[in-house]
Amino acid sequence: MTRPCPESVDVVIVGSGPTGAAYARILSERAPDATVALFEAGPALTDPPGMHVKNIAGDDARRAAQRRSEGLRPHTSLTPSPYADPARRLQRPGTHLLPDGYQAPGEDGLPALAMSTNVGGMGAHWTGACPRPGYGERIAFLPDLDELLDEAERLLEVDRHPFAGAPYTDVVRSRLASAFDPGRAPGRRVQPMPLAVHRRPDGALVWTGPDVVFGPTTRNNPNFRLYPDSPVRRVLVSSDGRVEGVRVGDHDVRARFVVVAADAVRTPQLLFASGVRLPALGRYLNDQPQTVFAVRLRDVPPPADISETGGIVGQSGVGWVPYTDEKPFHGQVMQLDASPIPLVGDDEPAPGTIVGLGWFCGKDLQASDRIAFSDTELDDYGMPKPSIHYTLTERDHASLAAARTEIMRAASALGEFIGDRPLVLAPGASLHYQGTTRMGPADDGTSVCGPTSEVWGVTGLYVAGNNVIPTPIACNPTLTSVALAVAGARDIASRLVLENAASAATGGDRA
Ligand code: FAD
Repeated sequence: MTRPCPESVDVVIVGSGPTGAAYARILSERAPDATVALFEAGPALTDPPGMHVKNIAGDDARRAAQRRSEGLRPHTSLTPSPYADPARRLQRPGTHLLPDGYQAPGEDGLPALAMSTNVGGMGAHWTGACPRPGYGERIAFLPDLDELLDEAERLLEVDRHPFAGAPYTDVVRSRLASAFDPGRAPGRRVQPMPLAVHRRPDGALVWTGPDVVFGPTTRNNPNFRLYPDSPVRRVLVSSDGRVEGVRVGDHDVRARFVVVAADAVRTPQLLFASGVRLPALGRYLNDQPQTVFAVRLRDVPPPADISETGGIVGQSGVGWVPYTDEKPFHGQVMQLDASPIPLVGDDEPAPGTIVGLGWFCGKDLQASDRIAFSDTELDDYGMPKPSIHYTLTERDHASLAAARTEIMRAASALGEFIGDRPLVLAPGASLHYQGTTRMGPADDGTSVCGPTSEVWGVTGLYVAGNNVIPTPIACNPTLTSVALAVAGARDIASRLVLENAASAATGGDRA
C-alpha cells in the first residue's frame, strides 16, 4: 500500500472498475462530507488513475500497462504478438485467466474466464459498447431502471452516435436494417452502437475508463482516497449482522458501509472468505455464449478520402442489432480497418469494408452453474481457491444454433464471407460474467442482494458489478451494472444523510 491506511471511514469501496468508481462518484456528489476509502488490489497505471490504456501514448507504454494489469502471472509480452498462451486458451492483453479450476470433468467450464487486476479493472481495457437491455434482459422489479441507465450514460460519457461519418457505416446499417428491421419496435431497430468514447476539442479520441467515471468531482473530493496495491482480505461483520469494516493486509479499517465491487469471481470470493455464505452466493453464474463471423462488403463505391477522420478507430463504425424477445440475441457489428485473416492474392480492402460480426446469446440460467470456493486451498492471492462448475444446456445449444443462423443472415445481407462458417468462441470469451451475487426482489434463497444491492441479512454491505445482474442479459452489461451501482450509491448517500441528521438531533458526534 502506498499510503497509510485510515483507521475509520464512512464508506469503504473494494475494487476500482467502473462500478466501484460509480459508487465513489455518486457519493462525492450526494454526500460530499462522507469519508470514502477505495481499496484496489492492483497497481495504478496512469495519472489520473483508472485511465483507459488505449489513451496511453506509445505502444511500449501501453503494452507495459497491459502487462501490469495481468496479476501475478503476466502474459503480455513487451514486444508485439501478445496473444499466445501456452495452454492455447483465449487470452487478451490486460487480463489474466484462472490458472486452473476452470473446467470440471464432464462439464463445459469457462476456459476463457478472465479478470484484470489494476486501478480501473477491466474498465481500463474494455471496448466501451454500452447498449441498453431490452425485453427479457430488463430487470422487471426495478421500475426506475431507465432513469438509472440515463445516469449510467452520464457517468460513462456515452455517445449514442459515435463515428457518424465513418466510411461505409450507412451502407452497413441500411443493409442490416433491410434484413432485420421489419416487425421491430422503433427503439430496437438496427442502429449505431452507443459507445463510451468522446473526442477532445483537438479531435483526439478519448476512451472512457474509470477515470472518467470518477471525474474531477471525485478526484477533488478531499474526503475521498484511492489506495492502489491494497487487496482486501475480509469484510468484517458483527455477530448481529452489521458490516463493521474491512481487513486490508493485516490492518482493520472500520466503516459504516462497505461496497464490494471486485468482479464476478472475486466479489463472491471475498464474501465467502468473510463468512457471508448465502445459498445463492456464486450461483447462477452466466457468460454469454458467443458466435463470430466476418465478411467483406460487396458492391461498395471506392473509398472517400479518409485522411481527415484521423486515427485507426476514427475509420471504424460499430453497429448494433438489438435483442428482442422474438430474436433473443445481441448483435455487435464492428467495421474493421483490416481483415482478421489475410486475403491471399486479393487487393487491399478499403478501411471499413471488412466487417466483424459477433452474436451473443442469453444463458439458460441454472443454480448449478457456479463458482465454488475452497475452505482449505488458497489461490495466488491467498484467498479461497475458486473452481468453476458450468454446463451449456440443450436450450443453450439450440440458442447458439439459432444465433449462427442469424449471423449468417447478417453476413449474407452485407457481403462475401471471410471463412466458411461462424465460429463459436470458448465459454468465458464474452468477458461478461453475471449472476454470482445476483439481485432479487425478495430474500428467497435465489439471490444475494435486494434491489438496492444491499446483501440480504448484512446491514450496510453492498455488492456491485455484472455479478449483481439477475437476468440472462445478452448485451454488453457494464452500462446496466453501473446503473445498479448508481441506485446503491444513492441509497448509501441518503442513509448517511439521515443517520447524520438523526445523530445531530440527539447530540451525537457523527459528522
Ligand atoms: P472490474 O472492472 O473487473 O474491476 C474489479 C476490480 O476489483 C479490479 O480492478 C480488481 O483488481 C479489483 N479487486 C478484485 N478483488 C479485490 C480485492 N480483494 N481487494 C481489492 N480490489 C479487488 N463490457 C461492456 O459492457 N462493453 C464492452 O464493450 C466491453 N468490452 C470489453 C473488452 C475487453 C477487452 C474487456 C477486458 C472487457 C470488456 N467489457 C465490456 C467488460 C467490462 O470491462 C466489465 O463489464 C467492467 O469492467 C466490470 O466493471 P466492474 O467494476 O464490475 O469490475
